[in-house]
Amino acid sequence: MTAPLTSPLLGALDGYWDGRFQPRPSAPRIDVHDPATGAVIARVPTHGADEARLAVDSAARALASPLDRAARGRVLAAIEASLLEHRDALATILTTENGKPLAEARGEIEYAAGFFRDAATHLDALAPVTLAARPRGLTWQVHHRPAGVAALITPWNFPIGMLAKKLAGAIAAGCPSVVKPSELTPLSCIAWFTLLDGLGLPPGFVNLVFGDAPAIGAVFCSHPAVRVVSFTGSTAVGRLLAAQAAPNFKRLSLELGGNAPFLVFDDADVDLAVDALLTNKFRCGGQTCVCANRVYVGSGVADRFVDAVAARVRALVVGHGLDEGVAVGPLIDHKGVAKVTDHVRDAVARGARIVTGGVPAGGAFFPPTVLTGVTSEMRCANEETFGPVVAITAFDDEEAMVEAADATPYGLAAYVFTRDAAKAERVVARLHFGHVGVNTGSGPTPEAPFGGFRTSGVGREGGLEGVLEFIELQTVPHG
Ligand code: ADP
Repeated sequence: MTAPLTSPLLGALDGYWDGRFQPRPSAPRIDVHDPATGAVIARVPTHGADEARLAVDSAARALASPLDRAARGRVLAAIEASLLEHRDALATILTTENGKPLAEARGEIEYAAGFFRDAATHLDALAPVTLAARPRGLTWQVHHRPAGVAALITPWNFPIGMLAKKLAGAIAAGCPSVVKPSELTPLSCIAWFTLLDGLGLPPGFVNLVFGDAPAIGAVFCSHPAVRVVSFTGSTAVGRLLAAQAAPNFKRLSLELGGNAPFLVFDDADVDLAVDALLTNKFRCGGQTCVCANRVYVGSGVADRFVDAVAARVRALVVGHGLDEGVAVGPLIDHKGVAKVTDHVRDAVARGARIVTGGVPAGGAFFPPTVLTGVTSEMRCANEETFGPVVAITAFDDEEAMVEAADATPYGLAAYVFTRDAAKAERVVARLHFGHVGVNTGSGPTPEAPFGGFRTSGVGREGGLEGVLEFIELQTVPHG
């Protein structure tokens, strides 16, 4: 089934380098699908090592005439304004290729704009610094230089949001970028490049390739002009990129998988915790790396909590993300459905109980599901399910539960619900996660640094820290 997606922002379905879209008429094409219907909505060319090199070379030429901080500020403001102006058109494309509800897609564009707004506030911090001390009788200056070409590799769950985090930091630092979106969702990115093309940026300052991810990734990790590889995606691919980039000492910024625990103590505000879980868990159909993967609930409030969660979950409307009132869209593809189905089957085989949902609903749809009696040996407790499944474990022993919550190689996000502030502080300090919400299910925000501990990554996105990922410090003693 073919149902081409038309939009004024999708005039070209091509990569972008040297300041223009670059048709590749003879390149093999890949299909882009609407995950809700399975329809092919576009066919885009595939790029490989040659195109990746052209794009990096284009960025390297732009680096030769760096933008000063005032010019970067104007670029950041222009991108923020253009995202907000074209929010709805971009959101429609995003929903059609990703499946998430339109309201979420609109929220993602606003979230993305926030990274450009925030990055602009850090430009003053990049001014050269003269040390007050004069060691060896010399005047010491420290400059914040653009590190070099930035290679930005992004996943399909937030095609605009994840790129915004990286691109805003790179631009604030003065680094030209080469972007590689997921092949499952290249259209939002192409549409965004149509907007960027209209902003009069210097040729080569932003570039776009997609297609053969391993071939493109290999160029990013070996081309001498690339100094920063910023990647969001699976731990497996992050590990591969780290190994490829190591011999060339590229700077790496990696935001990888998580396995977020969500702890609800007996003294928690249960209604607040239920609300927070629903918002946190079902964003993008549960396909986010910060969404609660393991829910631990004190046995004193477990029954009440499970009943309330199940009632709310049953009321979630599942459907095409463009339809009014839909809260949960499809998963990204059949592989996603297969993984979620396996996790539920495995949990049930090991003794978990399905309170609601649990059976694939056809196509890429999986119904919002609640499991209870989840134990630590189940797959859903050890791997990210990446789907609309709330996996609940009741606990009596707080000590053992906090230990279990932390017993994962991952360390991205965690959540703690208690009315006892001292307990919250103690528990947060014991959780080795880069982001820990206390009485909130909130994920990251543009203004604050966000990133993982342990195998959830290295580096930070957002805030001044997200800009510094793209900066090299140059120390200049003056005699
Ligand atoms: P997910 O499971 O979320 O799709 P992946 O890590 O597979 O996570 O994909 C995230 C991004 O990494 C996508 O843009 C994908 O195309 C890209 N990618 C996958 N394999 C490689 C690779 N070998 N080198 C570089 N990028 C890759």
